[in-house]
Amino acid sequence: MRTLIIIRPYAVIRGLVGEIISRFERHGIRIAGIKVLRLSKVLAEKLYREHEGKNYYDSLIENMTSKPSVFAVLDIDVLDDAHATSLVRKIIGDTDPALADMGTIRGDFGLRIDQNIIHASDSPDAAQKEIPLFFDEKEIVEY
Ligand code: GDP
Repeated sequence: MRTLIIIRPYAVIRGLVGEIISRFERHGIRIAGIKVLRLSKVLAEKLYREHEGKNYYDSLIENMTSKPSVFAVLDIDVLDDAHATSLVRKIIGDTDPALADMGTIRGDFGLRIDQNIIHASDSPDAAQKEIPLFFDEKEIVEY
């Protein structure tokens, strides 16, 4: 089962990419595709379409597009697809870093919800929609 994570600009500029990737690798999760790019406004708006109209929407889009992010497709060998996305969400922690458990990525490295350091697809359906926004099939490797 494949899912998408985005190591957001706040983590990239703080040099946390390796630390974050290693947390997934330690679970036995494989990196099937990875790239660095500065998100375009069009793609940021697609990714966060559900948040349009919220008072934080404009700054969310601005934060996501102002500096580069690291995009990765994770390949997760679990018995049930839903377990793959829920495991990744457990590893990243609550949306609000102030509420995220210690030991999670957001709990250990995050400070403010408006400066979140990582995105992860929240369901198999979301993963299926989000991966093709950033990766061609030929950029994803099975191994
Ligand atoms: P996620 O999947 O855990 O990142 O959570 P959501 O999909 O609900 O939110 C997406 C992103 O929007 C979050 O990571 C935050 O950067 C931002 N966001 C969500 N809720 C809030 C909020 O109440 N205030 C602010 N400032 N940002 C928010």
